[in-house]
Amino acid sequence: MLSLRHFSLTFCKEKRSSKVSVRHLTHFASSQSNNVGNDSKALPQSNPSVSSYYKVNNQSAIDTAAGKPSVRLTPYMILYSGKSHDGSHLLKSAQYLWKELPVRIAHRIHEFRSLPFIIGCNPTILEVHELYIRAFNILNNHPVIRTPEDEAAYSRLLRNLLDDHTHVVTQLAAGFKECRKHIQNEDLVRQFCDRTLTSRLGIRLLVTHHLSLREEKPHHVGIINKSLRLKDLVEKWAEFTRRLAFHRYGKSPDIRLSGHVGSSFPYITLPLDYVLPELFKNAVRATIESHPDASESSLPSIHVTIANNEVDFILRISDRGGGIPHAVLPKVMYYNYTTAEESTEQRLAVDPLGNIIDASNPGAGSVSPMHGFGFGLPTSRAYAEYLGGSLTIQSLQGLGTDVYLRLKHIDSKHDAFRI
Ligand code: ADP
Ligand code: MG
Repeated sequence: MLSLRHFSLTFCKEKRSSKVSVRHLTHFASSQSNNVGNDSKALPQSNPSVSSYYKVNNQSAIDTAAGKPSVRLTPYMILYSGKSHDGSHLLKSAQYLWKELPVRIAHRIHEFRSLPFIIGCNPTILEVHELYIRAFNILNNHPVIRTPEDEAAYSRLLRNLLDDHTHVVTQLAAGFKECRKHIQNEDLVRQFCDRTLTSRLGIRLLVTHHLSLREEKPHHVGIINKSLRLKDLVEKWAEFTRRLAFHRYGKSPDIRLSGHVGSSFPYITLPLDYVLPELFKNAVRATIESHPDASESSLPSIHVTIANNEVDFILRISDRGGGIPHAVLPKVMYYNYTTAEESTEQRLAVDPLGNIIDASNPGAGSVSPMHGFGFGLPTSRAYAEYLGGSLTIQSLQGLGTDVYLRLKHIDSKHDAFRI
């Protein structure tokens, strides 16, 4: 407890109000202690807010749920799970989520608890940890879903939770950046962030799928677009990035497309809505910053090539932005590694949660910057690998960079990835 007080005092000086710090820290210490279990005596009884917070944390329920395995589905199972006129497919889908979501969230909470103390105590990371605990309590306490009315109420709840968790990637990026100086072990950050971010992607895919099942969008089964034209999606995000570049630099290189531009196949747009703008922003920024005196028309174009085959599809993004120097290349996949200059960081500080990394919502008012916390590449790679693919970089030092995004088709019955 002595060390706890010390930390809480430090944070009081540095960050938030003492109430928040003590609450956070006591919670974190209680959740880290092995003997806590259900025994609220482990906490100081003199502080009612602390013990009530502790009860809300529902520790033993979290432990029980975290002990269960997660049931992951292949996209094929999701796609062909069948649709009934009486809406029973919606009921089944909600019942699956009702069982599955508390388990997945409890696994995340366990990972937050296993973080080294100094990272787990970071107020921004604690905020995310708390969001997960809150989501767990809401979902775990939800009564069994039996009727269409239950399903409708549950879906409203899910939509609210999706909204509450919109900025988690940005919050984690900011949190890890704040405590970066305390972290020696890069693998620890990578494992935690890879698992947290891909699990979050999986949960969002499942929840969005369920909510979309209710909407009956043409050519879709839930989140699966039955004939996605990759060309259209690439053009949409290329245009988005070019607009961003005009806003930021007053000019933008062309983004040209070739290869299997006519191909279409079933796929899920949601992860691409994150990865494509991140990769385009990197290519556009490198092109512009490596040609500081070039006029709009003399900027070298970015070339996007699409290749499609029975097993997977590949996007190659080639820029002439000077490449990634030898000394920098091994670090670009580290979470938080960025060569963003000081001036941009000041701009970010004004609006730390304003759609910084989540560029998938261009209409949200705030303008997503060209670079941020160094989360674009590692998060994109984690997503690609989660979806049975890969993200690799070839730097042609002195000239430019080729980024290869390879993703597995979702309609293969064999060897499929699981969500
Ligand atoms: P951020 O864009 O926020 O800096 P990223 O993870 O997207 O974070 O990229 C990390 C770093 O990798 C960038 O800061 C930049 O130095 C380097 N980088 C990424 N893509 C390219 C590229 N196409 N050309 C040159 N450098 C790149
Ligand atoms: Mg980037």
